[in-house]
Amino acid sequence: MAGVPISFEFFPPNTPVGDEKLVQVVKELAASRPQFFSVTYGAGGATRDKTLNTVRAIAAAGHEAAPHLSCVGSTRAGIAEILATYRAQNIRRLVALRGDLPSGTAVAGEFRYASELVSFIRETQGSDWHIEVAAYPEYHPEQRYAKKDLQHFAHKMKCGADSAITQFFFNPDAYFHFVEEVRKLGVEAPIVPGIMPIHSFSRIVQFAARDGIEIPRWVQMKMEGYLDDAASVRAFGIEVVARLCERLVAGGAPAIHFYALNQSGLTLEICRQLRWLA
Ligand code: FAD
Repeated sequence: MAGVPISFEFFPPNTPVGDEKLVQVVKELAASRPQFFSVTYGAGGATRDKTLNTVRAIAAAGHEAAPHLSCVGSTRAGIAEILATYRAQNIRRLVALRGDLPSGTAVAGEFRYASELVSFIRETQGSDWHIEVAAYPEYHPEQRYAKKDLQHFAHKMKCGADSAITQFFFNPDAYFHFVEEVRKLGVEAPIVPGIMPIHSFSRIVQFAARDGIEIPRWVQMKMEGYLDDAASVRAFGIEVVARLCERLVAGGAPAIHFYALNQSGLTLEICRQLRWLA
């Protein structure tokens, strides 16, 4: 199973200690020879400078860095300025998103959907960026009709995206079905599973409830049964995620993107179990 391309996602640290720790985490995860490290971006530009600094630090360590860029609440001029900054830093891969404004914030701005950001990047920057977008195997939580969500996704890809990274999920059939459906709509680009190592099961339950992600009952029951037995929670979490990755790759997933949450231990252990480490 060696040779599966992998990538990792971080959030920009909030403190100098967090920055230092991330440098070490990058060094440790680099053992798996990732394709790139991506760095999230707060909607409305909340982490603009921190995302840029984190991306710079990753690039300075000799790795490909892919900033996320969300557009809701932004202006074309503002996005153009950010793209120019990244271009000057030789960054040519990014993850283009709509983003979610905090509730109560007026949804102003010149972009409504990620597809408009993708079109804008292609129109103003040409073809030398690799543009990733988001995909939702269990559908986007705001969308009531699966068919519409699939059509919007296909449209976003046609606006010029090169590949997609999915929301995290635990049901491999949801991923395989999603890929099958969008292939029927003419999407040929790679769709990379986004995988969440189980750092904290209670946080995952919260995210899953918010974002409409199914946690299999057998996983939930077993995790809850461990109560405070942190070692068993960790071991079972590693096993669940490793088996998920194995099934996805065996079923044709082109790569795996780990939501590493600025930590290396758990993700490396999953890669080790899969024999993905050199
Ligand atoms: P879109 O593709 O624009 O879709 C959003 C919704 O609008 C969907 O329901 C879709 O069906 C609908 N829609 C799309 N086009 C149309 C249309 N033409 N007409 C009507 N409806 C339409 N958020 C951040 O703020 N920062 C990050 O760094 C970040 N990174 C992420 C990374 C990944 C891999 C993923 C999966 C998500 C990430 N998010 C991030 C979260 C993301 O911003 C939210 O999930 C957001 O709600 C949707 O973003 P999108 O780019 O998928 O939006």
